[in-house]
Amino acid sequence: MQKAIIYKGPGQFAYEERPIPELKHADDVKIKIYGCAICGTDVNIFAIPQKHPCKPDIIFGHEFCGEVAEVGADVTEVKPGDKVIIDPHGPCGHCPSCLAGLPEACEHVYLDAASGFEGQALTMGVFADGGLTNYAVLPKKCVYKVGDDTKPELMGMAEPLAGCGYALEKLNVHVGDTACVLGAGPIGLMFIALLKASGCRKIIVSEPIEYRRQKALEIGATRVIDPQSEDVEATIMEETDNLGVDHCIEAVAGLTPDCINYVRPRGKVLQYGHDETAHPELPLGTLLKKEVELHGGFLGKYYMRKVGQIIESNILPLDKILTHIIPASRYQEAIDLASSYQCGKIFVSIDF
Ligand SMILES: [Zn+2]
Ligand SMILES: [Zn+2]
Repeated sequence: MQKAIIYKGPGQFAYEERPIPELKHADDVKIKIYGCAICGTDVNIFAIPQKHPCKPDIIFGHEFCGEVAEVGADVTEVKPGDKVIIDPHGPCGHCPSCLAGLPEACEHVYLDAASGFEGQALTMGVFADGGLTNYAVLPKKCVYKVGDDTKPELMGMAEPLAGCGYALEKLNVHVGDTACVLGAGPIGLMFIALLKASGCRKIIVSEPIEYRRQKALEIGATRVIDPQSEDVEATIMEETDNLGVDHCIEAVAGLTPDCINYVRPRGKVLQYGHDETAHPELPLGTLLKKEVELHGGFLGKYYMRKVGQIIESNILPLDKILTHIIPASRYQEAIDLASSYQCGKIFVSIDF
């Protein structure tokens, strides 16, 4: 048996004993888990009222990583001892979106076991057993090898960073561009790091929490704004000779109309903040007259291999985005800290 953190319902978890899973299929990989990062989705799951669904009695946590413990007969890509990052919701590989080369839009990613795609269709740690325990078994398509020297706490950032990296490619950022990021939580900070590495000369960040504004500056923001006391649009216009930024990234949810106002003609907006209850009214006249390009994004399946290479090569200041490592035996403390927003990314290390 192994100890695990079990989701019990809105606002509640418990430590329980669960069987150590065994390999079932020839392409299965058994992982010894190092730990699991806390995602904004986890905060939304534990929030009251709840803002994201989760299946009760599953092993919680989806941003996990570890090392290979055992492999099935058909697995040649990884071997025991290899460090691996994990895609907790591997695309099915055979739906129309997957066959069209759009694995992010896989229609089975969110299906429940009743879908008949067991083992392929469940988001681990949200709708099926996840990573806040000692061992997990998953298909080889969900694991990606990284170098032996890669730090576990940075490996835990793979899944969200893959989503950010893939989404940013849609904006086609060039050296010398200007950008604005709304929100400097862990996702906003990842975008700031990516924009900096892509050569943006100005990265203007709007964030109400002082701790996160300071983090944004540390990661590469060239100017930070408190939207509660400063005029974001006026600052952007001042910084861009009244033109607007080339790119505006929404990493909060619901601020899409502002993004449309902040970009230059033919500027690009990326909607990444995820709150499906938000329905803001868009300034349609501005959207069409400026010919704004509006993009969405949230998963980064095709980008998983690349994100492993990014993490192992240390080209992004991920060690600054990661602000806390908290053992799983103190999980409540980790959730409370994430809910307080006085942090960057939190990695929960398995200590049982
Ligand atoms: Zn996540
Ligand atoms: Zn699919």
